[in-house]
Amino acid sequence: MARPSIIVHGGAGAWLNFDEAAVQNGVREAAAAGWEVLRRGASALEAVEAATIILEDNPLFDAGIGSFLNEQGEVEMDALLTDGREIRFGAVAGVKRVRHPITLARLVLTRTENCFFVGEGADALAAQLGMPLVANVEMISESEWQLFRQRHERMQPRTGLGTATGTGTVGAVAVDLAGHIASATSTGGTPDKKKGRVGDSPIFGAGGYADDQLGAASATGVGENIMRFFLSKAAVDALAQQDARGAAQAALTFLEARIPNPEAGVIVVKANGDVGAAHSTNAMPIAWADADGNIHTAMRSG
Ligand code: ASP
Repeated sequence: MARPSIIVHGGAGAWLNFDEAAVQNGVREAAAAGWEVLRRGASALEAVEAATIILEDNPLFDAGIGSFLNEQGEVEMDALLTDGREIRFGAVAGVKRVRHPITLARLVLTRTENCFFVGEGADALAAQLGMPLVANVEMISESEWQLFRQRHERMQPRTGLGTATGTGTVGAVAVDLAGHIASATSTGGTPDKKKGRVGDSPIFGAGGYADDQLGAASATGVGENIMRFFLSKAAVDALAQQDARGAAQAALTFLEARIPNPEAGVIVVKANGDVGAAHSTNAMPIAWADADGNIHTAMRSG
């Protein structure tokens, strides 16, 4: 039997002027939910989905409810679920009408012959597969709406992550008792993004990756930088030589060598249950379970 393990992140970014206790509590709850799934012997795929759903429901994070709004004031969400058993994935991009994009990504993986659905087609697939559709406005949190209004009254679009008050793409990676490995990543994208813009999060190998023989990774940060370098795949490949923390740092260093300020972060789990994280931003909230199931959190380290 393998050592079950999980680590989650709540997005690399500036995270200025936030209630850090609430943010760390958010990632703690997600890791605890994922750990509980692993403890009862369910799959890593179910564990990372369960953890991600908790974060999609938490308006502090840029995923599900509370996603950043695009320049037209809409929520457009992307998600990716990867399965390390046969190196498979399900992804969605530009979805507007589902409460839990990560669940739609799971249905793409498990219930269709395809890998990736976008826009209206993805929302329609959700309905066909029995997910309730919600009005886009239901995904808009009060605070994101206020920020959107203020910015547009001042004609000051909010761009980039370093200057944003915070960010909160979410992700989780886990190993289950059977030794299977999975990753999940879910996001509302970057603040004030152009309608139709898609970042790294739903891109296999960039926003997430899993291979049972090595481990899994989930990335966060400026997608335009991350997807050029397949950050998650780079981190998993580095596990062939390094522990989880070393692999996360190596992948980030590789990115930093080519892009001076990539504003990125990545979490990693190794097949042996070892976890690690690295980020080049001010902060990245993370939570992980140790071998006894105790949950630990951090926000500004490494
Ligand atoms: N990577 C996400 C994107 O570019 C944003 C983030 O992680 O904060 O859409």
